[in-house]
Amino acid sequence: MTPRDLGTARGVVVKVGSSLIQAGEPVMGAIADDIIALREGGARVTLVSSGAVALGRDRLGLPAGTLSLEQKQAAAATGQPRLLDLWESAFAPHGVATAQALLTLDVTESRRSWLNARATLSTLMDLGALPIVNENDTIATDEIRYGDNDRLAARVAQLTGAELLVLLSDVDALYDADPRRHPDAQAQHDVPVINAHIQAMAGRANAERGVGTGGMRTKIMAAELAGASGCSTAIAIGTARHPILSLSRANHGSWFHPANSSTSARERWISGVVSPNGALRIDAGAVGALQDGKSLLPVGVTAVDGQFERGDTIRILGPQGELVARGVTAYGADEARQLAGCRSDEAEDRLGYRRAAALVHTDDIVRVSSQEDGR
Ligand code: GLU
Repeated sequence: MTPRDLGTARGVVVKVGSSLIQAGEPVMGAIADDIIALREGGARVTLVSSGAVALGRDRLGLPAGTLSLEQKQAAAATGQPRLLDLWESAFAPHGVATAQALLTLDVTESRRSWLNARATLSTLMDLGALPIVNENDTIATDEIRYGDNDRLAARVAQLTGAELLVLLSDVDALYDADPRRHPDAQAQHDVPVINAHIQAMAGRANAERGVGTGGMRTKIMAAELAGASGCSTAIAIGTARHPILSLSRANHGSWFHPANSSTSARERWISGVVSPNGALRIDAGAVGALQDGKSLLPVGVTAVDGQFERGDTIRILGPQGELVARGVTAYGADEARQLAGCRSDEAEDRLGYRRAAALVHTDDIVRVSSQEDGR
């Protein structure tokens, strides 16, 4: 993605740093306005907002300086409802409902929770709401913490399949030297690859810039993480008049380009699973549907091999046992056996509950060439 493509982005994650929440309502209002503009341009937007600890700290009258983990957790518990309240007010003039999603590291590390979180965020967006994600600081311990919302936001970008991650903070760009000490320091507006040279800039000149937890180092780590899944990252100052839309100007902020295209990264993730646990055998009609880019519906499934659970990667085999695709299944093997061959409108009766219509959603399918061996 390039600055020019900003208006056509389909999936965007916007991360807002604590300093911007502390900067007050006009700043949050300007961010909300730009998020609305992105949505009006057709983007599905997820907001990742810091600020719970900062707001809670003020409310509880905790001292300035480093807080203990317990104090941070107490501050987050106090500040989080206030944070959502502020965002709800910022989006109220636009008539957009806000929704809270608190994630912990284990959610994004386990595929099952990952799929659940993804389904919830997606449903919220289908319903027109704006999901607002933060780390669940109150229960996260040091071992299971992201600790900074830059990396959490990168995981959310992967989770939602976003093409663009925007990191808004009090830092306007990546510089090759500390601009406070070197007036001739150059902003790096376009970063095609994150190499050792760029890492060094983040560690040296920019490490301490900004009041947030992460500084530049975690922003670069976030850009790397997002980039591995085909998502571009842009860093920009959150106090600008149009903090997000001004990124469409070439000499604003810093853009980091992904190492992989979105599809190939996703495909690599699915194809990369070494031993898919089981298989769904499908009829010729379903093979055709898959080749047309459709999801795999229960009606096309003729048999279910092996044991697997929801969220596992399975093989999809054609009538002759040939490998047609690999995919992440939305149902476990026992459920798939119950569903095999049934029409979508019968699925609820068979299972006794209702979930996804597709056994394997098209976004979770990697079609393979017919020459590949089916075993
Ligand atoms: N989750 C923390 C909060 O809401 C923010 C962590 C960070 O600053 O990146 O205060």
